[in-house]
Amino acid sequence: MIYTANPNAQFNSYKKKIEKSISKVLNSKKYILGDEVKNLEKEFSQYIGTKFAIGVANGTDALELALKALNIGMGDEVITVAHTAVATVSAIKSVGADPVIVDINPDTYTIDYNQIKKNINKKTKAIIPVHIYGQSVEIDKIQKICKQNNIFLIEDVSQAHGAKFKKKKLGSFGDIACFSCYPTKNLGAIGDAGLITTNSNKYYTKIKMLREYGWTDRYISSINGRNSRLDEIQASILRIKLKNLDKDNLRRIKIAKFYNKNLDKNKYSLPLILKNNYHVFHLYVIKTNNRNKLLKYLQSNGVFAGIHYPKPIHLQKAYYKRIKTSSNLKNTEFVCKKILSLPIYPELTMLDQKKIVSLLNKF
Ligand SMILES: *Cc1c(COP(=O)(O)O)cnc(C)c1O
Repeated sequence: MIYTANPNAQFNSYKKKIEKSISKVLNSKKYILGDEVKNLEKEFSQYIGTKFAIGVANGTDALELALKALNIGMGDEVITVAHTAVATVSAIKSVGADPVIVDINPDTYTIDYNQIKKNINKKTKAIIPVHIYGQSVEIDKIQKICKQNNIFLIEDVSQAHGAKFKKKKLGSFGDIACFSCYPTKNLGAIGDAGLITTNSNKYYTKIKMLREYGWTDRYISSINGRNSRLDEIQASILRIKLKNLDKDNLRRIKIAKFYNKNLDKNKYSLPLILKNNYHVFHLYVIKTNNRNKLLKYLQSNGVFAGIHYPKPIHLQKAYYKRIKTSSNLKNTEFVCKKILSLPIYPELTMLDQKKIVSLLNKF
């Protein structure tokens, strides 16, 4: 059996270190927001190249707390895409703001820069571009449009830990950047976890308060916060994974190169990597006309590919006719019928890679 992602294989490659660090936490006296979280925050901010990092409970919370830190709520609009994890949109709804969905580029799957401008109005407070599958959006252009229009930039980097634009790490461009550390992500915990980065002392201080009941001092709240703490066990695991992230990303890139070289280009449209981008291949997504049949064929041969994502968010029951969409989302609606995510994770063996390629080329 070969799966799209395989967090268990990753656990096995760091098993001794992880078990040792868990045991260390168990025998320490601190289980929540202790030294492991503090050190992770320091190491992650250094890794991304921002002044601050804050550990939170998951990626959805990271987005929600980022929006709250920027005072975004009722009556405000936030521009984003429907070709993403539901979390990107649900976080906007959670703070009471209105998501405004714009279309994507059908070849890079990232937000269509040209659609952003058309949808900016007086209510627009922020843009949340998603660095989907491991590759940067056109972040320089988006940064510029945010500055020109005085709106905030919140990066959703949940699929691109370690990816770069012009040699600069994603997560260092926005006012605030949000990372999920769900087990399958490039930097994955063994449970739920999330991280936020920022260069702003103001947002850093506010997010730290928001993640723990709005406390300034213990038991004393000065703003309305909530609980989105990160625990010591997950933080200690993430510290081990972070030390190996660049190496693990290189393994993903190597697998992507193998697929690029060997997959039949007449049958499949392969990932497009933009100039200036260091793509870390959270997912390796191809397009094909015969997607559903191919998916079943692979399954019957023990290969469980994935679809990220099968239904655009604006067409899902929870959001249909309940969120604002720019008039035309044809690329978003088109690609979800064609895309297939092939297995890719650092531990995927050459034997398995060869099997996958041969099945695809035979199909
Ligand atoms: C995984 C993911 C999230 C949500 O993260 P959780 O940790 O599951 O809450 C948000 N955005 C994107 C793009 C993701 O891939």
